[in-house]
Amino acid sequence: MPTGVRLVVLGKQGAGKGTQCVRLSHRYAVPHISTGDMLRAAVRARTALGLEAESLMTTGELLPDELITRMVAERLSERDATARGFILDGYPRTVSQAKMLDTILDEDLPLHCVVNLEVATDLVLQRLVSRRTCVDCAAIYSTNEPPIEGWSCDVCGGEVVQRPDDTAEAIMTRLQAYERETLPLINFYAERGLLETIDGDQAPDAVLADTVIAVERRKREMP
Ligand code: ADP
Repeated sequence: MPTGVRLVVLGKQGAGKGTQCVRLSHRYAVPHISTGDMLRAAVRARTALGLEAESLMTTGELLPDELITRMVAERLSERDATARGFILDGYPRTVSQAKMLDTILDEDLPLHCVVNLEVATDLVLQRLVSRRTCVDCAAIYSTNEPPIEGWSCDVCGGEVVQRPDDTAEAIMTRLQAYERETLPLINFYAERGLLETIDGDQAPDAVLADTVIAVERRKREMP
């Protein structure tokens, strides 16, 4: 039985965060908590949160810190996360959210580390315009590597589409928000000695292997 882990994964849009987080969550048997996936599910279910989030998400703006923190706090209080840990994907995204996360986490169970997947901006732009996503399970494809049959997901049979915020305009807004809000977050975690920078411009298996080496080293230091 793997021993669980408490991780935050950072990286630009299209850096491969989603793909790596799914793999890491299987490797350590902990939930993959993606704020983007949770919000898209809320939008589709037409919940109050979804209705509030939809227009900001479509244009690529960030949601208010308090709103997103409440959603994450609720999810982190569920049994799977309290028992074994979590992979946080998409949160925190600002320094203010990182400070809020500190207040949510159990003092005795702090983050093992923060993984930063580094990929050059021109590469992520190429990846994002060709990205296609399953509306039901969030599996990721591209126009170069589509599902086997039509645009039905290989994993769950759901419809595979272009995300409404994967348009050139919204991508630019999201990358600008990243530069503005998330780069200071990287410095914040580096100053606290928690940052592990991984080269994201490699095959997915190699990215995972490098990440696991870094995480295992951290876990030896803090079981
Ligand atoms: P990406 O990182 O590719 O932009 P995500 O799927 O992580 O996409 O998030 C999609 C959208 O959901 C964001 O553009 C933003 O509107 C909203 N969102 C997700 N996480 C957060 C967060 N931590 N803070 C504020 N807004 C968020």
